[in-house]
Amino acid sequence: MISSTGGSGHPSRSRASRLTVRLAVLATTVALGAVGVAVSATPSSAAACNGYVGLTFDDGPTGSTGALLNVLRANNVRATMFNVGQNVQGNPSAARAQVDAGMWIGNHSWNHAHMTSMGQSQMQSDLSQTNSAIQSATGVRPQLFRPPYGETNSTLQSVASSLGMRQVIWDVDSQDWNGASVSQIVSNAGRLQNGQVILMHDGIQNTRDAIPQIMANLNSRGLCPGMISPSTGRAVAPDGTPPTGTPTTPPTGTPTTPPAGGGCTATATYPNVWGDRYNTSVTVQGGSNWTVVVALTAPQRVNTTWNGTPSWDSSGYVMTMRSNGSGNTFGFTTMMNGNSSARPQIRSCTTG
Ligand SMILES: [Zn+2]
Repeated sequence: MISSTGGSGHPSRSRASRLTVRLAVLATTVALGAVGVAVSATPSSAAACNGYVGLTFDDGPTGSTGALLNVLRANNVRATMFNVGQNVQGNPSAARAQVDAGMWIGNHSWNHAHMTSMGQSQMQSDLSQTNSAIQSATGVRPQLFRPPYGETNSTLQSVASSLGMRQVIWDVDSQDWNGASVSQIVSNAGRLQNGQVILMHDGIQNTRDAIPQIMANLNSRGLCPGMISPSTGRAVAPDGTPPTGTPTTPPTGTPTTPPAGGGCTATATYPNVWGDRYNTSVTVQGGSNWTVVVALTAPQRVNTTWNGTPSWDSSGYVMTMRSNGSGNTFGFTTMMNGNSSARPQIRSCTTG
């Protein structure tokens, strides 16, 4: 199943809100003199990155997903896989292998139908069923949705949004679905600019064969493979930090007012560890009206929290937990997604 339309524009993007979140986090860090921002060391970030692009592979998992993952890993690529629900249901281990290889998973509908001809309730059940299959197979709830063929309308967008997903189309079409040669795919990928997203597909030999040259071209231009931000739909650094030297995000000037109130101490323990996930229990001392900022290491993801009210930054890896009257100990369950050793870092604890 193949996408048949050309590229199309993005929906509106909110860089401002992303920046606001960053500044708030920065302000907290500055105010407390806390340790610096936690940055996970991924192979792709070892090179100098002047910007990030989103490599996406649609219509999987397929019988050759393993071959695709091998090529991606060999080239230190993390990509976004827009999976078809019934393919996931038929091959859950392949979907799991995607996550284990560090890929992000998006929703690409249940069976690749033309969704704009559906009614709202049919759209809802299609996307919900797909999310359930993906979450069941991988433990990860999709935050991104790509409509089949790039065909969408306002109803479909609002249904995706109501399910917690950002619609992502693409900026560059590799044309791999259209029989493009390896060199044509490489040439098309050469048009990618900072923040942009390219459409490719799982299950196509030429696409796999093009990846080493695509990466060589990107590296020569200082572009690195990144994640697609669920809040902006743009490619960003895998851990959500802004790429250095990016002209579009100038955090000039002094961060805004530091949070009022004083400091507190937050201590984390890990009372339960399973094969694929673990629980973190955080106890706060020094106040009852607390706010604790916790940073995860990609590709780990929180899927459940308790005894607090969480909010997330655009990267999905920095959680701000606020007291909700349930006492001074909160907790959360983190899916390892292939990284079994990392544990969350407490960035700050404030009261008042
Ligand atoms: Zn597709």
